[in-house]
Amino acid sequence: MQAYQLVGWQQPPELREVPVPDPGPGQVLVKVGGAGACHSDLHIMEAPAPLPGFTSPPFTLGHENAGWVERLGPGVTGFVPGDPVIVYGSWGCGVCANCRESRENYCQTLGGQGPGLGGGHDGGMAEYLLVPAARYLIPLGTLDPRQAAPLSDAGLTSYHAVKRSLHLLGPGSTAVVIGAGGLGQMTIQILRALSAATTVVAVDTDAGKLETAKRMGADEALLSGDEAIKRIKEITGQQGAQLVLDMVGVAPTLRMAAQVARMLGHLTIVGLGGAALPVNFSSPPHECSVASPYWGSLTELTEVITLAQQGKIKMLVEHFPLERADAAYQLLHDGKIQGRAVVTPQA
Ligand code: NAD
Ligand code: ZN
Repeated sequence: MQAYQLVGWQQPPELREVPVPDPGPGQVLVKVGGAGACHSDLHIMEAPAPLPGFTSPPFTLGHENAGWVERLGPGVTGFVPGDPVIVYGSWGCGVCANCRESRENYCQTLGGQGPGLGGGHDGGMAEYLLVPAARYLIPLGTLDPRQAAPLSDAGLTSYHAVKRSLHLLGPGSTAVVIGAGGLGQMTIQILRALSAATTVVAVDTDAGKLETAKRMGADEALLSGDEAIKRIKEITGQQGAQLVLDMVGVAPTLRMAAQVARMLGHLTIVGLGGAALPVNFSSPPHECSVASPYWGSLTELTEVITLAQQGKIKMLVEHFPLERADAAYQLLHDGKIQGRAVVTPQA
C-alpha cells in the first residue's frame, strides 16, 4: 500500500510503498477513510532532532484518523468488518493509574505525551492503519469517517481544554480563543455547545479565519493586536476573560493571553509554538492558573463523538487524495486551509 512517511528529521515526507500490516492478537486493521493534517505534523517535520519519545523515521504521519474496520486480529470482539470507527490516537500502556482512568494521553509508563500514532507508531496517512487494541476504536454510527477524522485530535484536544475550565464559564463569562484554525474553530463550537451563556471571542491574524470563526458561533472576531486587547478589556469591564485559550503559543499570543486573562482565571496553552510565558508576581493576573493540556482522554472522545452526532459540532473539511498529502501540508503551512485538510486514501 501507499503511505505518506517522514523519512528523516527535517526532510520532506515521501509517499512510499509499504506492506499492508497484519493484525496480531488483540489488534485491528482499519481501512483509512480520513486522516487529518494537523499543524503538529508541521512541527514534527520541522523538528531538528528526534522528539522526546518518538522513534526514528521512517514512520507514517497522521494522528487524526477515522475509517472502517477491515480485519480483526485473533481474540478481538465487539466489532465487525465494515464498522465505521474513529481512532483514539494517544496510545498508553493501559494499566498505569492514568490509563485506567482512560487518560492514556497522560500515560505514566510512557512519561506522558507519548507520541501515539503518527510519530513513533505508523499513522493513518496510508490506505490501512494498524491499531494495537480495540479499546482505541469508537463507533461513529452515522458519521462519515472522511468528515469525522479531525474530531480525534482537533475535536478532542479542544474539548479537553474547554471541559477542564467549564466551572469558570457561568452566565456573563467570557472565553477568548487565540488562533481560529483547525483547533480554534472546534474550540469555538465546543464553547458554544457546552456554555451557551459565555461570550466567545476569537482572535486571529487572518481575516478569512475570523469570518469562519463568526460562522462557527464566535460573538466577536478580532484581528490580533493591541486593538483586540483593548476590545476584550472593554467587553469584560476591564477585568479580562475567565478563560483564555492560546491555540498558537508564540511570544505575541502568550503576551496577549496574559494581558486579557483575569484574576482567578485560566490561561491555557494548547499551541505548540514553543515560546515561553513570562511569569512574575503580577503577570499573569493574581491566581490565574496556567496549564498546557495535551490531547484528551478516551472517555472525552466518546463525548466529542456524541456532540458531533447531535449536530452541535462540525469540522469544516477540505479533502485531498493521498498523492496530494504534500499539497495539503503546504497549504496548511501557508495558512490557506480554512478549516482542516483531510487526506482520503480510499478516494
Ligand atoms: P492551524 O494552522 O489550523 O491554525 C492556527 C491558526 O493560528 C491559524 O488560523 C493562524 O492564522 C492563527 N495564527 C497564527 N499566528 C497567530 C497570531 N500571532 N495571532 C493570532 N492567530 C494566529 O493549526 P491547528 O492544527 O489548529 O493547530 C494549532 C496549534 O495547536 C499548533 O501549534 C498545533 O501543533 C497545536 N496542537 C496542540 C495539541 C495539544 O495536544 N496541545 C494538539 C493538536 C494541535
Ligand atoms: Zn494534532
